[in-house]
Amino acid sequence: MRITFHGAARQVTGSCHLLESGRHRLLLDCGLFDSDRLNPDSPNRHFTFDPQSLDAVVVSHAHNDHIGRLPCLVRAGYRGPIYCTAPTAEILGLMLRDSARIQREDVRLAAVRRAELRAAERARGTALELDEADELEPLFELHDVERVEAQIQRVPLNEPVELFDGVTLTLHNAGHILGAAAVQLDLRVAGTRRRVVYTGDLGRRGMGLLPNPDVVRGIDVLISESTYGGKELDPYDRLMKQLHAIVARATRLRSKIVIPAFSLGRTQRLVYCFQELFDLHRVKPIPVYVDSPLASRLTEIHRAYPDAYTKTARRLMDRDPFYFSPPSVRFCMNWEESRRLNYLDGPMVIIASSGMCDAGRVRSHLKHTIEDPDNAVVIVSYQAEGTLGRQIAEGAERVKIQDEEFDLNAAVYVLDGFSAHADRNDLLWWYEQTGGRIGQAYLVHGEPEQMLALAPAMQPFVESDVILAEPHHSYEF
Ligand SMILES: [Zn+2]
Repeated sequence: MRITFHGAARQVTGSCHLLESGRHRLLLDCGLFDSDRLNPDSPNRHFTFDPQSLDAVVVSHAHNDHIGRLPCLVRAGYRGPIYCTAPTAEILGLMLRDSARIQREDVRLAAVRRAELRAAERARGTALELDEADELEPLFELHDVERVEAQIQRVPLNEPVELFDGVTLTLHNAGHILGAAAVQLDLRVAGTRRRVVYTGDLGRRGMGLLPNPDVVRGIDVLISESTYGGKELDPYDRLMKQLHAIVARATRLRSKIVIPAFSLGRTQRLVYCFQELFDLHRVKPIPVYVDSPLASRLTEIHRAYPDAYTKTARRLMDRDPFYFSPPSVRFCMNWEESRRLNYLDGPMVIIASSGMCDAGRVRSHLKHTIEDPDNAVVIVSYQAEGTLGRQIAEGAERVKIQDEEFDLNAAVYVLDGFSAHADRNDLLWWYEQTGGRIGQAYLVHGEPEQMLALAPAMQPFVESDVILAEPHHSYEF
C-alpha cells in the first residue's frame, strides 16, 4: 500500500491525498490551493496524478480547501463515485456553484482590464505585449459542478460501506463543521488487513453547537491534520465571557460590533453563540444582523440537520420554529437591507463575509464603522498575511478599503478560539482516545512550525517515527 500527498503537505490548503491499495486508487479530498485561481501557473491548474486512473474519491468536508478542485477532477475525466455525508453533499454544491460564479466574474473583470491595457498600448503605438492566447479561463464552469453533484454518493455516519472487494469505508463525525467526517478505510490486500484513518479537519471539544469529534480505535495508519499542532486556544466559556463583555460595551455606548466571518460554519456558530448568550446566560439581547447571501443559504442547510447538534444546542434551538432564527437575529436578504444597516443606530452586531475582509459586504460595514472609537471589530477567524483582516487584527492605524483610506479608531478584539480546528490539546486528547498504539502517522494540513511542535508530543501514541508529509512524496506502508 502506498500514500502520496498531493496537497496540504507542509501547508494548510489544497488537501488531496492518493491512497493506492492493491488494485484500487482512492483519492482523499480534492481541495483548492490558496493561490490565484486565474494564474496559469497556479498549482490549481494541473493535477500531479492521473484523474482518470482513480477508482473512488472520498470527501471529508465541504470547505473549499478540501473540495475546491472536484470540478477540475471531473473536467479531467474522472467519472467514478464521490463519497461524502449528506450535509457535505448539499454544502459542497452551494460552495462550488458560488466558486464558479466568482470565477466567471473574475474572468470578465480581467478581460475588461486587458482590453483597456490593449487600447492604451495601441494609443501609445507600442508593441502589443498581451496576446489573445493569454486570455484567462475559469478553473471550471457550472456544468462541471453539476457533474460532480451527479457523481456524489451519500454515506451515513458510522455505517460501514463496502466500496470494492477488500475496501470498506466508514465515516465518523469530526465535529469541525456540519457534515465533516473523519474517514476510516479498512483495507484487505493479500491476506493483510490495515485500518487507514484520515482525520480530515478535526473540531474543538466543548464548543457548544457541534458535538466533540468521534474517536476511531485500532488505527494502523493515521493521516492527521495539524493546523494548531503547536497552539492552545481559549476554552469556550472564556470566549463567551469575552463576547459578553463586548456586547455589554456596545449596549452601553449604543454602538456597532462588526464581525467578519466565513459564510460556512463560523457564521452559524456565531448565531448560536449569541442565542446562547441571550437565552441561556440572560445577557440583554441586542439585534444581530447576518449580512451575507451565501451564509443565509448555508444556514438553510444547517436548519435541515437538527440531529447534528449537541443536546444543549438542540434544547435551545427547539424553541425556534426554524433553528438559527432566534428573535434577535435577522438575515439581510438584499442590498437595500444591507445598506439600511449603515443608517441604523446601535447597539447591534453585524456578521458579514468575507472572513478576511478582502471581499464581500463586510467591507462596506467596516467603512461605515471603523472610524468611530465607540464601535468594535471582532476578529474570529484566521487572517492570512496581506489581507485587510490581518491589518485590522494587528491594530493598523490606517487601512485602505476598496481604494479609500480610513482611520482605524474602533476597538479591535481578536478571539481566535472560535476556530473550527482542534488545538494542540484537542489533537493529543484524540490520539490518546484511539486506544492502543497507532502504527504509523503522517502529519498534513499544517505549517511546518505547527507540525514540528506537534510531532514530538504525538510520538508516544505512535509506534514508528511520526512523518511530516512532504509534497508529492510517496510513502509505502
Ligand atoms: Zn475545514
